[in-house]
Amino acid sequence: SDSHFPVPIMPSHVNYSIHYPQFFPSNQTTDDSGNRTSALERSFTKTCVKNIQFADIGCGFGGLLINLSTLFPETLMIGMELRDKVTEYVKERILALRAGNPGQYQNISVVRTNSMKYIPNFFEKGQLSKMFFLFPDPHFKEKNHRRRVISPHLLDEYAYTLMVGGIIYTITDVEELGDWMKACLEGHPLFEAISKEELEADPVVKLLSSATEEGQKVARNEGQTFQAIYRRIMPSDTE
Ligand code: SAM
Repeated sequence: SDSHFPVPIMPSHVNYSIHYPQFFPSNQTTDDSGNRTSALERSFTKTCVKNIQFADIGCGFGGLLINLSTLFPETLMIGMELRDKVTEYVKERILALRAGNPGQYQNISVVRTNSMKYIPNFFEKGQLSKMFFLFPDPHFKEKNHRRRVISPHLLDEYAYTLMVGGIIYTITDVEELGDWMKACLEGHPLFEAISKEELEADPVVKLLSSATEEGQKVARNEGQTFQAIYRRIMPSDTE
């Protein structure tokens, strides 16, 4: 149950020095002039300087994060994963990559959490520029649709968390779920579809299948995939 993992009470309580020690050394208790700084000040500095910008929801074994890490080395990213053992595996994987490649893979981390409940505890309004929902569990039965990670209600939350212009990437090999995710996004007033030309020019789109463990499995079996990629827009005045 959720009681087994700690949840930050608000985004300023997310401990960046645990996740990204090279960016936020934990022994840094003085400011640039040598004055002692409080934890609150440090978290304020952090808010001004650098925040997590990409979130991979249900990151599984972390393949996407690892590929994005070198593509956007200055961007902080986090994977959110419900399964304890999988989260521990991703942690170890990142530590091994850091050890084997000094200075690299410092911008990625993972946290065990239930993304359907706790996203607002981790991110401020308009903080994220990219959110990923790659090969989420389908929950076929109608009575279980409320457990799907994309729903009209949860899209309100994702729209709150994404900055205007931010992008939500979804992909699945289950056609019915693909139709559902697309319909939810299409029907939401704060998201618009991204043009084909723009998608072709976005290097991240190619990674949705090639970099994720689930995508690789589908490719090996020559399965089809269905993607829906939408941009967070401003509310329209006419409504
Ligand atoms: N995105 C990865 C990929 O493409 O390889 C993993 C896909 S896997 C089929 C779905 C993952 O979502 C699982 O690892 C599962 O534990 C995780 N998950 C399911 N519900 C979740 C939730 N509420 N919060 C966080 N992770 C969740």
